[in-house]
Amino acid sequence: MTIRHHLSDQLLMAYAAGQLPEAFNLVVATHVSLCDECRAQLASFDAVGGALLEDADEIAMGEDALAEALTRIQGLPQATRSEPLKSAGVFPAPLADYVGGDLASVRWRRVGGGVKQAILPTGPDATVRLLFIPAGTAVPDHGHRGTELTLVLQGAFADQNDRFSRGDVEIADEDLEHTPVALAGEDCICLAATDAPLRFRGLLPRLAQPLFRI
Ligand code: ZN
Ligand code: ZN
Repeated sequence: MTIRHHLSDQLLMAYAAGQLPEAFNLVVATHVSLCDECRAQLASFDAVGGALLEDADEIAMGEDALAEALTRIQGLPQATRSEPLKSAGVFPAPLADYVGGDLASVRWRRVGGGVKQAILPTGPDATVRLLFIPAGTAVPDHGHRGTELTLVLQGAFADQNDRFSRGDVEIADEDLEHTPVALAGEDCICLAATDAPLRFRGLLPRLAQPLFRI
């Protein structure tokens, strides 16, 4: 498995500092369990977290604070890579723990066009859901208010910008309007966190049937 799309340093740092909503924590933890690169990066953030906190009084929390912190962190030796948690199923260990099992324990709700979702219980400040998109089916066209993190667990999807397969994470924000389409061959299962409701455009007519099949 080659992961091409990773978490940003900002997300990893916020995760290390315990500043993310529970919904985003779950996506980050699940990606990190699959990804050597982000796991190593996170370990180096963890290693300097204490030092940064000790110096917190002296760091001006202006625009430059993050860049400054990153520069300091990048100068430090790479932390030792710990082994990933192993899981035999579709769900990596952090997600399997959260759900209490693998795919078979998910209670899906149909949202139209063969697309199914299961919203996982989290705190109220953000939402995380499992999405099941049949092979060749599009997720309705939508923009974002806030941030959307989508991690692929099975199959693959593509949008106007790129292609994402198992382990890849797409970071979408207000500027991105996209139509993800599950690639043919295998149903696509994703874990997606949002910190504000998606604003679907023309939701009802579009949900009635897949937009197109490839
Ligand atoms: Zn990564
Ligand atoms: Zn999106």
